[in-house]
Amino acid sequence: MSAQILSGKEVAEAVKSRVRSDVAALKARGVDVGLATVLVGDDPASHTYVRFKHRDAEEVGITSIDVKLPADATQAQVLAAVDELNARPDVSGMIVQLPLPDHLDGEAAVERVLPTKDADGLHPFNLGRLLLDKPAPLPATPSGVMTILDHYGIDVSGMTAVVVGRSFLVGRPMALMLGAKGVDATVIQAHSRTPDLAEVCRSADLLITAVGRPGMFDASYVKPGAIVIDVGTNRTDDGLVGDVAFGEVVEIAGAITPVPGGVGPMTRASLLTNTVALATAASS
Ligand code: NDP
Repeated sequence: MSAQILSGKEVAEAVKSRVRSDVAALKARGVDVGLATVLVGDDPASHTYVRFKHRDAEEVGITSIDVKLPADATQAQVLAAVDELNARPDVSGMIVQLPLPDHLDGEAAVERVLPTKDADGLHPFNLGRLLLDKPAPLPATPSGVMTILDHYGIDVSGMTAVVVGRSFLVGRPMALMLGAKGVDATVIQAHSRTPDLAEVCRSADLLITAVGRPGMFDASYVKPGAIVIDVGTNRTDDGLVGDVAFGEVVEIAGAITPVPGGVGPMTRASLLTNTVALATAASS
């Protein structure tokens, strides 16, 4: 039997339509809603991501502020650009598009963003609030995964969730969100040093892969009927593929996100949700 397809593309459209009406309501109260991006250098993938983010913002009525710096920009120039955006009242949220060129310190740039304008939810202050179960803008990718689960009525309470990957961008916050009080999954955080990874993954009712290895998770990693969320985004000669061998896993999983059209569109949708929440908080 074939798994249910969890379409992030569809869920993202539903999120955008909610954001569109929230933005309209804020504008009616005279509140500006603006999303700024800081992009350094010529990396084509980063340029594409930023272009999509601006397109999404415009679609829902959020003003886009697009700051581009050359590949040889200094750390001081990047920080000055962030400072300038921090000071602008029309900027509700901002992101520093990562990775920055090798000579720059991306973490320092993210830390320079005011936590109250942190649309990516990656500022250490906000990650700390997540750890403490306090309200904060949430990291966009894991937050997008939670929205997909919620949209499809998947209650993870009591499930064993295996999250493969422990980056601060995806894996770690994902594990925190799934294990939070009220969500109540029992979480195993796996990584490159986990022994018997396939066996660990087969214990999962919910398997989340955030590794960056095309097609690594074949059917031998998946318990029949499990929910499989593929965060992996890998550019190959065959186009964009996930970490999961979709063709065989779709035959045994209970539900699965495709790549493309799964988690990717949700990451961008979460950015819009965070921007509106930041604009709302700043205006009240
Ligand atoms: P990182 O490279 O920062 O982290 C990868 C993680 O995978 C690490 O924790 C690493 O373990 C683990 N890992 C690597 N190889 C193996 C292995 N053989 N077995 C088990 N674990 C392994 O990547 P990110 O977290 O930033 O991204 C992960 C993937 O998600 C990428 O494909 C990325 O493109 C994608 N992504 C997709 C997004 C979306 O919107 N869809 C957004 C962000 C990322 P260790 O810590 O031990 O090294």
